[in-house]
Amino acid sequence: MSETYDFLFKFLVIGNAGTGKSCLLHQFIEKRFKDDSNHTIGVEFGSKIINVVNKFVKLQIWDTAGQERFRSVTRSYYRGAAGALLVYDITSRETYNALTNWLTDARMLASQNIVIILCGNKKDLDADREVTFLEASRFAQENELMFLETSALTGENVEEAFVQCARKILNKIESGELDPERMGSGIQYGDAALRQLRSPRRAQAESVQECGC
Ligand code: GDP
Ligand code: MG
Repeated sequence: MSETYDFLFKFLVIGNAGTGKSCLLHQFIEKRFKDDSNHTIGVEFGSKIINVVNKFVKLQIWDTAGQERFRSVTRSYYRGAAGALLVYDITSRETYNALTNWLTDARMLASQNIVIILCGNKKDLDADREVTFLEASRFAQENELMFLETSALTGENVEEAFVQCARKILNKIESGELDPERMGSGIQYGDAALRQLRSPRRAQAESVQECGC
């Protein structure tokens, strides 16, 4: 299989234990629900190439692998992440109340420009809901987060969450707001794009100059 891509983004999945972070990662990579009989050592890492606005983006996604149970998600876990899924469980207000702490850590320990999408997971358990969509979308707005409700069980909005976050990062690269070459940006160039994407405007200008017609 081809490993050609334009960009590589480091992503994190953060939020309280039990919110479904590992299941979201598994659903995104494997396109199926990770059932409970299947929790051996816990996936700590996954990667997948997605196509976003005509660019191939390789997402390298880190899962806490249970560290959050001990409130010991390390500094090195956060370092240099370009994007994050911040997950709470719509059936647990406690996990929603913890969001502010997660946000503080992410903004302090990851890249200052980290792009975060808030995911209200377990959307399929609407009957047990403790957090309304409206309330969470206000929180997202106030904190400049994108927001989706997801279900790692049915797969609803799972791919979308990763894609929307990646799209926002790409937009920021194209507008110049994010510099992929800055240390710790969480972004790398892939082979596919290496030269001409390094400076799209310069590349365009060069190609005009080089045109002999
Ligand atoms: P983590 O601790 O955040 O990694 O959470 P897990 O991915 O291990 O999931 C915790 C529990 O929630 C497990 O029992 C999962 O089967 C369940 N779970 C995860 N996502 C969903 C979901 O979208 N819907 C439902 N109904 N259960 C889910
Ligand atoms: Mg987990």
